Amino acid sequence: TEKCIIIGASHAAAQLCVSLRQGGWDGSITVIGDEDDLPYHRPPLSKAFLSGDKTMSDILIRPAEIYEEANIDLKLGVRVGAIDREKKSVLTDDGDIYPYDKLVLATGARVRNLPVPGEDIKGVYYLRDTKDVLAIKSQVAPGRRAVIIGGGYIGLETGASLKKQGMEVTILEAMPRILQRVTAPELSRFYKRVHQEEGVNILEGVVASAISKSNGRLNVSTSCQQNFDADMVIIGIGVIPNMELAEMSGLTVGNGVEVNAFCQTSDLDIYAAGDVTWHFNPIYERHVRLESVPNATEQAKIVAAHINGQPKPYNSLPWFWSDQFDLKLQIAGLSDGYDDLIIRGDIKNSREFAAFYFNGAKLLAVDAVNSPREFMLGRMILGKGKTLDKKAIADESADLKTAVI
Ligand code: FAD
Repeated sequence: TEKCIIIGASHAAAQLCVSLRQGGWDGSITVIGDEDDLPYHRPPLSKAFLSGDKTMSDILIRPAEIYEEANIDLKLGVRVGAIDREKKSVLTDDGDIYPYDKLVLATGARVRNLPVPGEDIKGVYYLRDTKDVLAIKSQVAPGRRAVIIGGGYIGLETGASLKKQGMEVTILEAMPRILQRVTAPELSRFYKRVHQEEGVNILEGVVASAISKSNGRLNVSTSCQQNFDADMVIIGIGVIPNMELAEMSGLTVGNGVEVNAFCQTSDLDIYAAGDVTWHFNPIYERHVRLESVPNATEQAKIVAAHINGQPKPYNSLPWFWSDQFDLKLQIAGLSDGYDDLIIRGDIKNSREFAAFYFNGAKLLAVDAVNSPREFMLGRMILGKGKTLDKKAIADESADLKTAVI
C-alpha cells in the first residue's frame, strides 16, 4: 500500500489525516510529532487554558478514538531529523526510517528567542505549547507580578489571562505602539485603553535589554533606564517557521517553505501546510506566511484533495481572532498597505466597533470588536472580491447591508 507521512502533529496534521481518509485514501497514514500530547488547539493556550477555564481534554482537536478508527498511526514525542528525497524516506532522531510515497511538512513555527542576557533563566517563559503553559500556570497566584515582553496578540492575551487571575501585569512593547505590525494606530490606542481600564500596565517604546535574578526575584532592565521587578517574565515576540528540514533537503524556501496553489513544494511528492508555508494568496496577489488556525485547516484540506486526485487550488481569505477580557476581536483579510480607515461605532469610549481598512475604494480588511455581523459581512464581501461604500459604513444609523456596492 502507499504510504503518507505527516511531520508535525498539530492543527494542520490533525485536519489532514482525517481529510485524507474522508477523501478515500486507503494507504497508510503516519503522523510523526515531537510533542507528547495528542494534537490540541493552540489558541486557548494564552486564553481559556491559561486562565483555567479549559482543561487539557477540552482543548484536544479530536479524541484518541477518531485516529484509531481512521487507522491513523500517531508517533508522538518523536522528532524527524532529516528527509532523504532520493530514497523517499524520513529519519527520526531515534534512528527509525520511515519510507513515504507522499510526505507532508506540517512543522509549524517556533518562538523567536529574545536576544538578551538572562532570557533562559528560571522563571522566564515563552509560550507556544502545553508544557510552557503548565509551567507558567504553576507560578500564577494573585498579587504576584508578571512582566510580559512583547505587545502583540499573544502578549496581550496572556496579560489579560493573568490579570483575570489577580496578578499584577506589566507589558513592555519595544515599538512605539502595541500591535504595530498588525493593526492601525486607532486599534492600538483602543487596546491600550481597555488594558489600562482593566488594570494592566502597558509601556510602549521600551526595549528590554537584560533579565537577571537576585534573591529569588527577577528583574528586567530596559532602554529607558527603568527596571521592572517580577515573579515571572513571559516573552512573546513572534515566531519563526520550522523550515530547516525543507532547507536541508534542498526544497525552495522563502519566508517559509514555498508551496504552489495545491500546497506542493518544489518536490511534487512533498507538500506543506500551515504556519510553515510561504504561499501565494490570489485575493491579495502576493506571497504570505500566515499564522492562523483557519489557514492551517484550509491548507490541510487542499493537500488531502490533491493527494486523493480531486485537486482544488487554494483561494482563501485569511481570517483570525483574538480574545482579551470581554473583547472578541475577529479579523477578516490583511490590512497591510491600507491608506484609509473607516470606523463604525465608538472606538474611543465603547468596546464595540468595526474598523474597515481600504486602499482607495478597495476594501482590504475588517477588524471587528464584539461585532460579529460586521465581521461576517466583511468576510463575505472580501471573499467575493467586492467592496463597501465608505460613507454608508460610517453612518451607524444606516443598515450595514446598504453599504454593499
Ligand atoms: P503548529 O501548531 O506550530 O504545529 C507544528 C507541530 O510540528 C508542533 O507540534 C511542532 O513541535 C512539530 N514539529 C516541528 N518540527 C518537527 C520535527 N522535525 N519533527 C516532529 N515534529 C515537529 N491562531 C488563530 O487563528 N487564532 C488565535 O486566536 C490564535 N492564538 C494563538 C495563541 C497562542 C498562544 C499561539 C502559540 C498560537 C496562536 N494562534 C492562533 C496560531 C495558531 O496556533 C497556529 O496558526 C497553528 O497552531 C498552526 O498550526 P500548524 O499545524 O501549522 O503548526
